[in-house]
Amino acid sequence: MKSNFIANQHLASASGQTLEVIDPSDGLPFEQIQRSQASDIDLAVTAARSAFKGPWGRLNAAERGRLLMALSRKVAEHADELAALEQRDCGKPTRQAAADAAALVRYFEFYAGSCDKFHGETIPYQNGYSVLTWREPHGVTGPVIPWNYPMQIFGRSVGGALAAGNSCVVKPAEDACLSLLRVAELAAQAGFPAGTINVVTGLGHEVGDALARHPGIDHISFTGSPRVGTLIQQVAAERHCPVTLELGGKSPQVVFEDADLDAAVPVILNAIVQNSGQTCSAGSRVLIHRPIYESLLARLGTAFAGLRAGPAGLDLDLGPLIRASQLERVSGFLHQARGDGIETVSQGQVVAQAPSGGYYQAPVLLRDVPVDHRLAQEEVFGPVLSAMAFDDEDHAVALANATDFGLVAGVWTRDGARQLRMARRIRSGQVFINNYGAGGGVELPFGGVKSSGYGREKGFEALLGFTTLKTVAIHHG
Ligand code: NAD
Repeated sequence: MKSNFIANQHLASASGQTLEVIDPSDGLPFEQIQRSQASDIDLAVTAARSAFKGPWGRLNAAERGRLLMALSRKVAEHADELAALEQRDCGKPTRQAAADAAALVRYFEFYAGSCDKFHGETIPYQNGYSVLTWREPHGVTGPVIPWNYPMQIFGRSVGGALAAGNSCVVKPAEDACLSLLRVAELAAQAGFPAGTINVVTGLGHEVGDALARHPGIDHISFTGSPRVGTLIQQVAAERHCPVTLELGGKSPQVVFEDADLDAAVPVILNAIVQNSGQTCSAGSRVLIHRPIYESLLARLGTAFAGLRAGPAGLDLDLGPLIRASQLERVSGFLHQARGDGIETVSQGQVVAQAPSGGYYQAPVLLRDVPVDHRLAQEEVFGPVLSAMAFDDEDHAVALANATDFGLVAGVWTRDGARQLRMARRIRSGQVFINNYGAGGGVELPFGGVKSSGYGREKGFEALLGFTTLKTVAIHHG
């Protein structure tokens, strides 16, 4: 049984209640975690506050950087162990779990290097004044983390928060806690003072809600669904607590007739297949210039037909979905597509070795999806790619922007002027030209517009969100 990790100690929840951890590859329980409540959050916030006021808060920027670098090395030493934990917990194929552990190393390394390079400014003002700005930590931050990329999202939110000098009370998703509890232990071994990083597990509407409401949480970094993002904002608004929201997406990949299709096809495929489509920035819509619509669909169809889903340990193209309800959700979308006469171009297969209790969904390519259909508007969060045709650049922009989301977009064209026009006209937080980074890029500021959220994480930009600006105006005559 796994305990919470508070003040560098393993603690059971005050209620003594636990939750089962299920292996998505076979649907069987294999571990237990704490089902924590508000009193456990209270304990963690008290520990985080003492760290912030005490040994952690007193460190200078270079010292914080050294600790983050030590943690990066610890994670690197334990990368295989962490990847194995997350693989079983989340059903990730071996290569994906290894890539996530490598990204965690890189996040801590990147933010280690940022600590003593992030600073305020001096501002020209009236004669007789000197004005300077300081970037100060909020205090105790509360990263709320989803289940799709626990290590990566922990790395980017906790890495940025610590670099800026905050302490953290982390709430992992109930389906994906194991790797993060271990990372917190490794942080203690790396020398982080007690209370700097605390991890409290449990259900979202119980312990997540308690974290969002806690008056001792000075900033919330939420990554998850738009629905819960709204709830968190409402709760945080009651006490004017700043929030960064990293929500979902319905990201387009726009392919013009002059695109290098040999380069585009594997990338388009990976953008929806990676992590079984359970990626906020999954390229879940492919918008294709009409002259190449049929030929590209035929190529993608052949590629889809060759994809295989199966147990995480077999390291196939796709692992299982995270849980039974997610599988039901994805099959519900596909059932509706069939009922509404949407044509399937092709689909992959679930391998025979897949245990019947696992949550497997073969990847599916759909064509001519109407722009107002749920499949073109809502996040499926599964391996389902919706294709639609466009006639010209204006039409492509209209389709690309025709959802409530705006997280990431891909544009495939050799025309340099069109690349820049499209990048300007698409409303999203990131635009990739002739490539696509589903979830990637530690250095690249990331976040959305519209229902995809606000604020930025990753890169240096994240440090702006993890700090508050103080202006100091000195009148010296
Ligand atoms: P979710 O919103 O259900 O849960 C996210 C986290 O919020 C979990 O830790 C959960 O326990 C917690 N939570 C649930 N209810 C809560 C409440 N009432 N108060 C406080 N916390 C609560 O999302 P999910 O299903 O875990 O993840 C999938 C969603 O996350 C998708 O919409 C996906 O697009 C999004 N996501 C976004 C990004 C990004 O960076 N933009 C990255 C990954 C995932």
